[in-house]
Amino acid sequence: MQHRIDIKKYGPRGEAMAEAIQSCVHCGFCLAACPTYKVLGEEMDSPRGRIYLMKEVLEENLTVEEAQPYLDRCLGCIGCMPACPSGVRYDELIVSYRAFSEPKRKRSLMDNMARRMIAETLPYPNRFRAAVASGKVGKLFKGAMPEKLGAMMGLVPADLPEDKPLPPIYPAKGRRRARVALLSGCVQTVLNPDINWATVRVLSENGVETVIPQEQGCCGSIMMHIGEEERAKKLARQNLQVFVPDEVDAIITNAAGCGSGMKEYGLLFKGLSEEAEAEKFAEKVQDISVFLDSLGLKPPAELREPLTVVYQDACHLLHAQGIRSAPRNLLSSIPGLTLLELGDDGLCCGSAGTYNIEQPEIAHQLGQRKVQHVLNTGAQAVVSGNIGCLTQIQSHLANRGVSLPLYHTIELLDWAYRRKAQT
Ligand code: SF4
Ligand code: SF4
Repeated sequence: MQHRIDIKKYGPRGEAMAEAIQSCVHCGFCLAACPTYKVLGEEMDSPRGRIYLMKEVLEENLTVEEAQPYLDRCLGCIGCMPACPSGVRYDELIVSYRAFSEPKRKRSLMDNMARRMIAETLPYPNRFRAAVASGKVGKLFKGAMPEKLGAMMGLVPADLPEDKPLPPIYPAKGRRRARVALLSGCVQTVLNPDINWATVRVLSENGVETVIPQEQGCCGSIMMHIGEEERAKKLARQNLQVFVPDEVDAIITNAAGCGSGMKEYGLLFKGLSEEAEAEKFAEKVQDISVFLDSLGLKPPAELREPLTVVYQDACHLLHAQGIRSAPRNLLSSIPGLTLLELGDDGLCCGSAGTYNIEQPEIAHQLGQRKVQHVLNTGAQAVVSGNIGCLTQIQSHLANRGVSLPLYHTIELLDWAYRRKAQT
């Protein structure tokens, strides 16, 4: 796609945006992989359409506001990238474009309030926990913007699990094979702290010592995703200070969105003094499934009861990080576990960061489509590597009156090692 973008106007990210736009050849192979195009059937709600719109805005033929409805409907799921034969870096384009366009937008007072509440609450586990527990978030959101924020609050369980802080170091069992640092995450820590405990136990079982920097914070991915670049940088800087990449073999995440966000730290700090440090950090980031699969897994024991599960690929594992085989290899190594495939080409479940808040109707349609595929498999449980997918699917199953257990991949490994009965 030829462009006449004046790169100098758009700072250090201008070149990346122009390159992505330039490499699109309009072939349309990405359309079938795009969830919003599947639901809405509009060219401007497809990757190709959105690339064109971004080009027009950056060339100053369209205003930010004219293009915005179509760009707001993009999930950022990156399903379009693996389908693209020209290697268009849609991930860099959409993140950079959102950072450019957000300060130029005219948002309503309600919209601004809602975004501020998200930005001041979700990345901070103590605030999020306190707000949900006291019911304030629900009440404030409902009063402020019922149609949007009510959708999100419907996903948060009424009773949060007890807080179970991790120690600064969780030792390896037996001979130490590796040493890693764990990003414990923000939303996941509140909604399901057992995932982190399962992670450190499984690492320990495999001879890995885990360091959990106590001063760490949210990785900033949610803020990057919604174009709040300065907030994202502030959060990321905190992690750059407390994680020491040279002292560990990997920086581990067990949430797909956090992993792909942290791998983009180099882009976030492009042209700034922290760029080299951010790239070094990003190079060390690995999803727990990839780390364990490449380390070589100690064979898990047989599950106490046979279990048939279906694996849900999180977009930010499959599409954004290209991780397909590692979680399947880990699950397949558990005796007694039968692994089924969803057969929906990894189409997004509609979770995607704050998408449930911003675009509840499309999120609902995608959630319903996903659970239909889940139910078609006849599996006894759903497994995924991302708390967002698990929460979204659980909520949509509940809407249908279906109660299926949902597990993180690491929880099943943990149970197998401990020969604990599945709950
Ligand atoms: S990121 Fe997802 S929703 Fe956005 S254009 Fe690509 S495939 Fe479509
Ligand atoms: S598949 Fe790639 S090159 Fe083809 S239209 Fe989509 S983004 Fe452009």
